[in-house]
Amino acid sequence: MVQREGFNVTDIFDLGGRVAVVTGGNGGIGLGMARGLSQAGAAVMVAGRDRDKNAAAVAELAGLGAEADSVVLEVTEAASCQAMVAATVARFGRLDILVNNAGINIRKQPEDITLEDWRAVIDTNLTGTFLCSQAAYPELCRAGGGKIINIGSMMSIFGASFVAAYAASKGGVVQLTKALATAWGKDRIQVNAVLPGWIDTELTRNARAQIEGLHQRVEARTPAGRWGDPADHAGIAVFLASRASDFVTGTAIPLDGGYSVQGG
Ligand code: NDP
Repeated sequence: MVQREGFNVTDIFDLGGRVAVVTGGNGGIGLGMARGLSQAGAAVMVAGRDRDKNAAAVAELAGLGAEADSVVLEVTEAASCQAMVAATVARFGRLDILVNNAGINIRKQPEDITLEDWRAVIDTNLTGTFLCSQAAYPELCRAGGGKIINIGSMMSIFGASFVAAYAASKGGVVQLTKALATAWGKDRIQVNAVLPGWIDTELTRNARAQIEGLHQRVEARTPAGRWGDPADHAGIAVFLASRASDFVTGTAIPLDGGYSVQGG
């Protein structure tokens, strides 16, 4: 334990007694964040559509010694988001931390995107983030404040020919983050976004299969020289969920091994 003039480095990252819900927490980046939150002491509610994946994630978190449970969630439906919050409070007594991580991508050229594709991506990535945040707000207020962590993307910054709906949704997530941070600062709720680079998950496995040379291009462009891993998200989740970040709000923090600052 490091002590410095009343400043305790261990304590400000400690999530003991805190309750987190992670949408899409049953795999990939969400589970990477859930592991970090669990290891810092939080009880974690895993929220996703797939019951089997939910159960497997809970078993893994429980294996780390964490309190964990799961709830079936469909982020595009307001009632489901509200039910997720109610289930979390019923199970763990409070809600302190919301991670809005559930997301999808449909890779097509803009001229080929159907209205159904467009709506599926926007409704999941952007509207889902809004609905879960709105559902969580009363409970975060009741807890005396809280933390919302939204997941953006490199497509919050850049464009690419095959991600019109995804880029629109992830750009929107960053602006939504700023608006919520502005509105809810008075309630001691900090709202921040994480912008992952290329991370090895189910979401990108298809992309690597479909887009020739993608794997090598990402490695070559990333100063860290590798793809990211879900485990890379544990530390930032703990930071943004803990007292360590109490004066950090409205930001969008790249977690990309330097991908977004590579100039040449
Ligand atoms: P995964 O496909 O592994 O995870 C996506 C998660 O979202 C799953 O747990 C899935 O749960 C959940 N989900 C999807 N749709 C819904 C829905 N309608 N309702 C509830 N849950 C839903 O991908 P990643 O871990 O890679 O992605 C996680 C987040 O990170 C996404 O927002 C993605 O856009 C973002 N991201 C990923 C990057 C990467 O390189 N991998 C880069 C930048 C951002 P279930 O399977 O149960 O439906």
